[in-house]
Amino acid sequence: MNDCIFCKIIDKEIPANIVFENEDIIAFEDAHPVAPIHYLVIPKKHISSMNDVKQEDIEVLGKIQLVLRDLAKQLGVAENGYRVITNCGEDGGQKVKHIHYHLLAGKHLGHKLVKEE
Ligand code: AMP
Ligand code: ZN
Repeated sequence: MNDCIFCKIIDKEIPANIVFENEDIIAFEDAHPVAPIHYLVIPKKHISSMNDVKQEDIEVLGKIQLVLRDLAKQLGVAENGYRVITNCGEDGGQKVKHIHYHLLAGKHLGHKLVKEE
């Protein structure tokens, strides 16, 4: 997937502030943060979206939950709380077609999941 911006971050072809990396997962700062803490956690395998998740991806996606948990703890926001979001498709607001989990924290994020129109 050589036109995928997140694959390029994985391959170190474009820079990112990487905060965690192992053989199948990478986490980095979002370039346009919408909260004081905003990271993206992604599998190194190119999976385009939630719609493309296969049975064989369960293990890595499960491990991502643990990375998110540990990152939140490391950042000192586990107690106060945080939000994890995965957007899918046009209506879901997905811009980058490589599955990713937003980790948002550092302020009270409110109770509304969707902005009022
Ligand atoms: P989504 O709308 O769920 O597809 O989110 C894509 C996210 O990727 C947005 O929050 C962007 O700010 C972020 N993003 C796009 N390009 C980069 C990049 N090169 N480095 C870090 N974050 C990026
Ligand atoms: Zn990709």
